[in-house]
Amino acid sequence: MSLYPWQGELWQRLTAERERLPHALLLHGPAGIGKRDLAMELARWLLCHAPTAGGACGQCPSCLWFGQGGHPDFRLIEPASEAEGAEEGKKGGRRITVDQVREVVEFLTLTSHQGGWRAVVLQPAEGLGIAAANALLKTLEEPPPKTVFLLVSHQPRRLLPTILSRCRKLAVPGPEQATAVAWLRDQAVANPESLLAESGGAPLLALDHAEPERMARRERFLAGLARPEREDLSALAGEYQQRVGEAWAWLIRWLCDVLLCRATGQVRFFIDHVDAIRQAADGMDEARLWAAYRQILSDGRWLQHPLNGQLLLESWLIRYADLGARR
Ligand SMILES: [Zn+2]
Repeated sequence: MSLYPWQGELWQRLTAERERLPHALLLHGPAGIGKRDLAMELARWLLCHAPTAGGACGQCPSCLWFGQGGHPDFRLIEPASEAEGAEEGKKGGRRITVDQVREVVEFLTLTSHQGGWRAVVLQPAEGLGIAAANALLKTLEEPPPKTVFLLVSHQPRRLLPTILSRCRKLAVPGPEQATAVAWLRDQAVANPESLLAESGGAPLLALDHAEPERMARRERFLAGLARPEREDLSALAGEYQQRVGEAWAWLIRWLCDVLLCRATGQVRFFIDHVDAIRQAADGMDEARLWAAYRQILSDGRWLQHPLNGQLLLESWLIRYADLGARR
């Protein structure tokens, strides 16, 4: 475990003095920039027996426990379905349960194993429903001594005011573009600029997106959008019926790029497909393009529901194909 290159300055500020770390800290910022890893590293540093300015020592018993995921003075609360819930376009199914919160509250009533610090990482904080938040409030407001709560949030505006008011808020910045590109190149990502653009500048998302099978799916899907024929797009809907969320995210970004390209000649997300987007943008009626974009964007709410994914995707793609058909 280590910090990302763009987190050094924030780390220095946070760790200048252990005793002055607030007992409840809310780390917020865009998804995919490493907030969770930063919180985990802070927790590891707090629990470490021989911490330095640079971080945890990595060798003491505490660091070893932490590395094995079983530190007795540490708890991580996150939704059980976090791995699947993280899929793009899917925002449901990311709830932290009341039982998870109660377990941690109870854990904090015991004395710490090491007689030192205890840390709780909770993420995403927007996964706390009202009942789970209520179960946490009292402990969050007055935790036992030497206890630190590290809450992580991608969408702090969705947090309950009762939670927000009990935390010190800290905006976690993402990297500069050049830093992110260099880091992605170090991770052996072949096309860092375009993946970073597609991921809205979030390097960890870009790294996920670099997975070869996904890249192949992306290319097939974008090739379909570049030459929109009704029949081909119907077939595409069949092929992507199990991945409607992924396809939806590509289609929305593509439409954004088409709209932006018409207005400014630039694209934002698919910088490796700028010619195809320019061509698509040429033949489309602006008002109908906006209408389709708004409709498909708002249809994103159906992604959490067990509807017929193929039909939904097909309706979007046919609507898209028709944009270019009637010039
Ligand atoms: Zn250590």
